[in-house]
Amino acid sequence: MKEKKSRFETEVIHAGYQEEQYHGSLVPPIYQSSTFTFSNAEQGEKRFAGEDKGYIYSRLGNPTVKILEDRIAMLEKGEAALAFSSGMAAVSAALSDLTKSGDHILCSQGIYGCTFGLLQLFKEKYQISHDFSAMDSIESLKKEIKPNTAVIYIETPINPTMKLVDLEMAVNAAKERGIPVVVDNTFCSPYLQTPITKGCDVVIHSATKFICGHGDVVAGVVVGKKEWIERVSRTTQKDMGGIMSPFDAWLLLRGLKTLPVRMDRHSENASKLFAFLKHHPKIDTIYYPGDQENPDFSIMQKQMRQPGGMISFSVKGTKETAQQFMNQLKLIKIAVSLGDPETLIQHPASMTHAVIPEDERLKMGIENTLLRLSVGLEAWEDIKEDLEQALEKI
Ligand SMILES: *Cc1c(COP(=O)(O)O)cnc(C)c1O
Repeated sequence: MKEKKSRFETEVIHAGYQEEQYHGSLVPPIYQSSTFTFSNAEQGEKRFAGEDKGYIYSRLGNPTVKILEDRIAMLEKGEAALAFSSGMAAVSAALSDLTKSGDHILCSQGIYGCTFGLLQLFKEKYQISHDFSAMDSIESLKKEIKPNTAVIYIETPINPTMKLVDLEMAVNAAKERGIPVVVDNTFCSPYLQTPITKGCDVVIHSATKFICGHGDVVAGVVVGKKEWIERVSRTTQKDMGGIMSPFDAWLLLRGLKTLPVRMDRHSENASKLFAFLKHHPKIDTIYYPGDQENPDFSIMQKQMRQPGGMISFSVKGTKETAQQFMNQLKLIKIAVSLGDPETLIQHPASMTHAVIPEDERLKMGIENTLLRLSVGLEAWEDIKEDLEQALEKI
């Protein structure tokens, strides 16, 4: 493959695609085909034996999906990537490949609600246990690693409390025992943070969010070492079957092209809205990686390009006050998901994190008055005015 060594903003548009191999088509074509023909029986035999590199059947690989995988691998500075039908298909495939019955998973103190649900399922069905760790020092993290710990699983920023984990610290703690460090990089996208450059082994995305950027696809991706990705492709993904459709891959390739432009605007809008909300008399606490008073601010500077487009805050009052506030919003939509052009707000305690028992949830810092805002691409003044008028009414 002709290497196009270039900067992120260029790679996001060009990497992994050689138009001369596709009749000069500027935009990657959609290979909407379930199967691929062999020119003779012997070629079919060779493809199945892995001696001939061509395609066989779209659950085992598809040319449009492959362009997306190659592009994301390059953006994440990883060797290879594998696309999935959803973020959860990506999380479940990676974790089921890396663990077996009797193993233990050590997690950051706060993870996506369905990842929490998956860990419960692993525990009940396969005796794979887990613990949550604050991961705030190498000493404490090392102490929490058990003899049967098979994976260190990290979200940073943590959804929805926006706490950060120092990735280099986690890698150093895991190194002695060679435990793989897996990072859910959904909140950052590869534009803001590339965990593999900090020594992490695996990166997972819900591509539904910033990578897609337009709220019209549910998808996931896993990035890691070539040999491991090929194994997951040949085993877990082939046999469990959570593949991405060629059309979704095409939409993601289209959305991805504007990732840096969008992330810059998401971040810029978020920092302006943070400044407005920070000292608002009706706001109790605010969680934003770009807050200089945030204890994790130095970690943000160390491993993130920008603080990103996500802000969480709690309003003074009760759960009902928080819901009342949401109901007053006009421009801002009440919806889960994030990374869309539209500004979205949701109430984690009753929505994305409702599956987590209340005591566990409160330990994670998810209070009943907490709201999570995915700052969109609208004029920031319009978003601010909407927040302002709703705050006035509570
Ligand atoms: C949305 C999300 C997921 C799950 O992804 P889906 O595409 O909805 O399956 C996992 N992790 C994080 C941090 C998410 O925000």
